[in-house]
Amino acid sequence: MALGEDAMMRVLFIAAEAVPFVKTGGLGEVTGSLPGALRKRGVDARVIIPKYGDIPADLKEKIQHRAYTMTPVGWRSQYTGVEYLEYEDVPYYFLDNEYYFKRPGYYGYYDDAERFSFFSRGVLRVLPLLDFKPHILHCHDWHTALVSVFLEAFYRENPFYQEMKTILTIHNLKYQGIFPRVILSELLDLSERYYSADKLEFHDHVNFLKGGIVFSQCLTTVSPSYAWEIENPFYGEGLDGLLRQYAYKRRGILNGIDYAVYDPKIDPFLDKNYGSPEEKEENKVKLQEQLGLPSRRKTPLVAMVSRLTEQKGLDLVCRVLEEILSLDLQMVILGAGEERFEKYFTAAGLKYPHKLKVILGYNEALAHKIYAASNLFLMPSLFEPCGLGQLIAMRYGSLPVVRETGGLKDTIVPYNEYTEEGNGFSFANYNAHELLDVIQRALSLYKKKKIWNGLMEQAMAANFSWENSAGAYENLYAELAGEISE
Ligand code: ADP
Repeated sequence: MALGEDAMMRVLFIAAEAVPFVKTGGLGEVTGSLPGALRKRGVDARVIIPKYGDIPADLKEKIQHRAYTMTPVGWRSQYTGVEYLEYEDVPYYFLDNEYYFKRPGYYGYYDDAERFSFFSRGVLRVLPLLDFKPHILHCHDWHTALVSVFLEAFYRENPFYQEMKTILTIHNLKYQGIFPRVILSELLDLSERYYSADKLEFHDHVNFLKGGIVFSQCLTTVSPSYAWEIENPFYGEGLDGLLRQYAYKRRGILNGIDYAVYDPKIDPFLDKNYGSPEEKEENKVKLQEQLGLPSRRKTPLVAMVSRLTEQKGLDLVCRVLEEILSLDLQMVILGAGEERFEKYFTAAGLKYPHKLKVILGYNEALAHKIYAASNLFLMPSLFEPCGLGQLIAMRYGSLPVVRETGGLKDTIVPYNEYTEEGNGFSFANYNAHELLDVIQRALSLYKKKKIWNGLMEQAMAANFSWENSAGAYENLYAELAGEISE
């Protein structure tokens, strides 16, 4: 018998991060806002993340211990607590083990393979202790990809787990969790049967994400374009063949953003809240003051808020930065990442102090101010699974300049001078002078206030809230649950 019409769909998001507890990028935003949107539609969506030491203290003190068990990690057995906090109507569970998670930061430790394989198996271990038995385990990225592998390897025979379905959402195929072969038995407790080219083996290593792709019942990517792009070697990160094999269980669902958080009318980080293009300029003047840029209300402000990695198209920006800065504009870059980019942009900022400000680091408040203050927002990505920056920029009336790839292609309609349609600007090839060309074209339009304001209004009116995408996930859950008996 299929899941009854009146029975509530129960979905557990299993992820390494979720706003407001931990965020390093787009993943945390999605797992922190999609469950709330699903709950509004009547899906009982809940979230489980590791209990990191760096969870903000005001939230951490409200988290309550619920239960504990032990989780096998190779030949050892590790304490696995489960804790709970309801935040803005969404129930959050936290997997507690201080040895693994009470450290500064979140990733990048020598034992990440152990930490996240422990987390993935630990979640399965604590499920029977929760007041909540999910129909669907919705996993995200390599950190939790092993849930579906462990489910098949150790728990499927147990009636409690028998009907659970797994979904793996790939937020970024570049990060796969690839580790030496020895961990297969030492940490994962898996037999050699799992170490083959059609399972977890990948160039003589163990690949977590690959395991998730093979063993999950369904795969999603965070935009429709990225869903088919990754079938090609250019975007496939070595897994394109496998992704072609599993095309039947893959689909792309566009991310949204939380319109209650990203709303220039009420955003508490802004110097001046606004709802129209005219009112926006006040924020530019304030930011110029704050950053020590010459105060010029009419000069276009071009911005980037981004991880400073190859993915984000920074090689193109570096290649033509001097030419960009020779134009009549100011530029602000907020980001952190690869040393070569941090050094290059810092040096450029020192060379052109009246035109370019570079702020290294992660700063949520400043990011909001930059979205509000800027007129153009650059995202010339080499690849982009979805991208949230361009969605936030549109909402704040900063017109995105993007390369036509992945989610950027699915969300940005380039300005059409004949119909005046559009919500930004785009170029096709990964070529620095195409980027420069589009920036120049956009700046020439900036002088034509009527056209520019029209474009801004179109961008601000575009709807990339979670409503549509939450509906698509709900349909997907219903499809999978069609095979579940209650
Ligand atoms: P990705 O997840 O690949 O880093 P996305 O565009 O999907 O890129 O999401 C990035 C999110 O992180 C956006 O909300 C962006 O504003 C934010 N962000 C990126 N870098 C910074 C930073 N240095 N300070 C504050 N917020 C940042």
